[in-house]
Amino acid sequence: MQSVNPANLKKISTYSPHNDEEIINKINSTHNDFLFWRNESLDNRKKLLLKVSQELRENALYHARIITAEMGKPIQEAKLEVEKCAWVCEYYAENSIDFLSQKNIKSNSSKSYVSYEPLGLILGVMPWNFPYWQVFRFIAPCLMAGNGCLLKHASNVSGCALAIEKIIKDIYPLKNLLNVLLIPSSKVKDVVKNVHVKAVTLTGSDEAGSSVASLAGKEIKKSLLELGGSDPFIVLDDANIDQAVKIGVKSRFLNSGQSCIAAKRFIVNKDIYDQFTDKALEEIKKLKMGNPLIEGVDVGPLAKKNFADELMNLVNNSISQGAKLLFGGGVSDCYFEPTLLIDVTEDMDVFKHETFGPVLCVSKSDNDEHALFLANNSCYGLSASVWTESHSKSSYFVSRLNAGAVFVNDMSKSDPRLPFGGINKSGYGRELSELGLKEFVNIKTVVYK
Ligand code: NAP
Repeated sequence: MQSVNPANLKKISTYSPHNDEEIINKINSTHNDFLFWRNESLDNRKKLLLKVSQELRENALYHARIITAEMGKPIQEAKLEVEKCAWVCEYYAENSIDFLSQKNIKSNSSKSYVSYEPLGLILGVMPWNFPYWQVFRFIAPCLMAGNGCLLKHASNVSGCALAIEKIIKDIYPLKNLLNVLLIPSSKVKDVVKNVHVKAVTLTGSDEAGSSVASLAGKEIKKSLLELGGSDPFIVLDDANIDQAVKIGVKSRFLNSGQSCIAAKRFIVNKDIYDQFTDKALEEIKKLKMGNPLIEGVDVGPLAKKNFADELMNLVNNSISQGAKLLFGGGVSDCYFEPTLLIDVTEDMDVFKHETFGPVLCVSKSDNDEHALFLANNSCYGLSASVWTESHSKSSYFVSRLNAGAVFVNDMSKSDPRLPFGGINKSGYGRELSELGLKEFVNIKTVVYK
């Protein structure tokens, strides 16, 4: 398993995958630590998470450099990612005692209540695009709930996986609460089948989600899927156009366009279409592409060479289908120029597929109903953003958009306090917030006659 720096295509490290015996040993040792951890007080679990967050804050630049080297994220964004991981640890440390407290329920018996107990080992299959954040939003609630964690990270970010594992091992005397499995995706099925593994959470493509959820279903184990998205960014005729352009460009080009909740399909009312595309062009021209280790670079390389080639195909096909290239479109190794495509229609490749890179695609809508139709014309349903100054228009869209989240006059973003997840091919279940914590607990009903 190789880590390659996408900024210069130089090899960083090679890792030997764990063999079958090592995999079994890792699972067994995590299970042994879980048997102790499940009885650890919530106060002690809280202390662990607060120490983890302290380490992340004190050494944010160290961790950010590991991220940037392995997957090419601009360094200032990598630092923010590490800080957000510290936040999610603090959030669960501070709130879980309340979330996990016994809830009394009136019934015909003298006493009845619900308690929340750990399930066992939870397997996280994680992607490379937010290589720290995706992991921490899985492990922080799981550890607070008293579970043990196994991490199968994307094969190109093993350095990130091992750095995260080391943080927990350095802080807590039990060394196997979180174990990294350096395995290819073909080995995931053996782990899902293992008797100590009680559930699996996967963040990644819909193909990977479908495969892992099928395995879990066969074993009658719970799964949670956070998959792709092609989120609409709807700009209505009464929107604050300057704000919509500024925030829309930020949403599209963050993480060099490789974010599940990036604005991917801009749907702009015909009366403000030209104004919007002119202003978007001006903003995009200001973006600096380059070495992601240099502060101030807005767009780095894509994480792998083949991602640039796949994105180029989608763009070229769409141009041949009638889209107009206003800016960009050039590729060199992993670097894909910030690109603006306009006059995109629903039959084009960039509209139908997830564009995972720095390409902003604009479609024209005739009116609000048409904008809603275009927005919902997708197999995904992660989140949506709608821009309008009118309360009645925003209510109309909020209640009709098929998405796990709707943001009015703001870009879609995750927040530890708010549930996060999708519908349709964007997956099921919720991460973050109290709901995310309760995905991987045994909700035990207790009745005293
Ligand atoms: P990916 O290729 O699906 O990989 C994700 C993880 O799944 C990796 O660890 C990968 O391991 C593993 N995997 C792939 N195929 C598998 C299979 N058949 N069986 C078991 N495991 C398998 O996705 P990616 O390219 O890393 O990430 C990009 C995708 O993730 C995009 O679609 C993006 O929208 C989505 N995403 C969604 C969210 C969300 O919260 N909804 C957040 C971030 C990203 P290997 O690396 O070893 O193949």
